Amino acid sequence: MNDVDAVVIGAGPNGLVAANRLADAGWTVLVLEAQPEPGGAVRSAELTHPGFVHDLCSAFYPLGVASPVMRDLQLESYGLRWRWAPLALAHPTAGGTCAVLSTNIDETAASLDQFAEGDGASWRELYGEFERISDALLDAMTSPIPPLRGAARLVAALGPRGLLEFSRQSLLSVRQLARDRFSGEGGALLLTGNALHSDVSPDAPPSGFLGWMLTSLGQQYGFPVPEGGAAQLTAALVRRFEARGGTVQCSAPVTRVVVRDRRAVAVVLADGTTIDAPRGVLADVGAPALYRTLVGEEHLPPQFVNDLGRFQYDYATFKIDWAIDGEIPWRAEPATRAGTVHLAEDMDFATQYAADLAMDKIPARPYVLLGQMNKADPTRSPQGTETVWAYSHVPLEPRGDAGGTLRGTWDTDDSEAFADRMEAEIEARAPGFGARITARHVLAPPALEALDANLTGGALGGGTMAFAQQLVFRPVPGLGRAETPIRGLFLASASAHPGGGVHGACGANAARAALGADRIRRLTRRSP
Ligand SMILES: Cc1cc2nc3c(=O)[nH]c(=O)nc-3n(C[C@H](O)[C@H](O)[C@H](O)COP(=O)(O)OP(=O)(O)OC[C@H]3O[C@@H](n4cnc5c(N)ncnc54)[C@H](O)[C@@H]3O)c2cc1C
Repeated sequence: MNDVDAVVIGAGPNGLVAANRLADAGWTVLVLEAQPEPGGAVRSAELTHPGFVHDLCSAFYPLGVASPVMRDLQLESYGLRWRWAPLALAHPTAGGTCAVLSTNIDETAASLDQFAEGDGASWRELYGEFERISDALLDAMTSPIPPLRGAARLVAALGPRGLLEFSRQSLLSVRQLARDRFSGEGGALLLTGNALHSDVSPDAPPSGFLGWMLTSLGQQYGFPVPEGGAAQLTAALVRRFEARGGTVQCSAPVTRVVVRDRRAVAVVLADGTTIDAPRGVLADVGAPALYRTLVGEEHLPPQFVNDLGRFQYDYATFKIDWAIDGEIPWRAEPATRAGTVHLAEDMDFATQYAADLAMDKIPARPYVLLGQMNKADPTRSPQGTETVWAYSHVPLEPRGDAGGTLRGTWDTDDSEAFADRMEAEIEARAPGFGARITARHVLAPPALEALDANLTGGALGGGTMAFAQQLVFRPVPGLGRAETPIRGLFLASASAHPGGGVHGACGANAARAALGADRIRRLTRRSP
């Protein structure tokens, strides 16, 4: 196929959203994917036993149902079916307490009141602040920078005093936010567990904003999963795209973007094939790999190359999947009903974990983010069994082990030992867990990168979520948009604003930029 308008490099969710948007506009689009299957970090496979479907990377999609970009695609018409667990989230401690996040706010509030009377009302207030602006906020966050319409809606919804409060709150660490709003530990656990989905320390901003937003999204939308596995979300994106004449070609790694007169005109595959892309190349590729490897620094302004040298990836990820006989025997009953379970004993535990990571040490006690996939979707494994998914973060380049003698080489011994450390956190809250494991599959950082080159060193977010690399600073200062220094080339991956997560905004923004540039090009060509 060499008669295309545009090429999308990479069939991750952002690449597929970009491709869908271009196909909606009537363009002929070819998606080239390095791996044998589409999906990037949104895939599933039978990793343990036959009949046990595990999500290779991402698993829960509050952003998938809340993002205006994903909603617009109406993927339910292409076979996607969302499923919800009875509880969105539980945060059990080894001490036996358990904070709960339910889409029924009475249940969330009652859980927090058990930690300190009045904290339920505090959560209603904090969540109310989100609910009032959630549409405008998501609109602003998923639009290209500057998000004029979303920002105007946000300002209108907040009013001058509200805007000031919102701005102040966005600058808080999650520790300070929890201190400001709750008397007991429950609210802190919910906010902090969610903030730790990012690589930002609980003692640094914008962890307060991130924790508040994700906890509120869970309150509003739950943490849903696609029936049949994450791959079903990808399958719906592909089906929608193909229904509009698009093509996804797998096992087709792109090795070069051909630049002529500072314009991207074609791509070259590993087998040497050149594919022309007269209307644009949209890259669902990590920023450093795109610019350094595919484009080449000789085509880029020196200042840009310099700025790219400071690009910071987020922490590496260590992922485990288990096949379980029965279910996890949590001591705290609510955890037996939750789809997502967070394991961090308290705020200081979270700070210590983040401090280990900041010092490039493998955490002595990992924060575990765990998914009990069958709670929402019983199709994941045979009756009477469960598939369990979990990850924790480790340094990109470990310089030691805060908890023992791991070297961070992630060979078999290292990986199995760290997997044991994560299991110990579960066992402490669910005695007997280990005895129910019938199979364990470990994906250390290098294995994750082998599954998807964008997971560089095992980093899952396409770059840090720290303030210094957000908004107009993502991926490098002054850019913040999908346009690149090369005409006709657009950054569509999570390295672009607004970053990691399956919301499709990076892809949609790239498609919008490509369509806009094409319109201008055609107009200027037509003019005398
Ligand atoms: C373990 C893990 C857990 C996660 N959990 C969640 C979660 O629960 N919820 C959530 O919302 N997010 C989660 N995320 C993050 C989320 O999956 C990513 O932010 C999201 O997938 C980014 O989408 P993307 O399209 O930008 O990139 P990716 O999904 O990484 O896809 C990029 C694609 O491009 C391809 N590619 C790269 N280079 C080339 C090339 N040169 N030629 C051809 N193809 C190429 C890759 O093979 C890949 O298929 C998780 C990620 C990981 C790793």
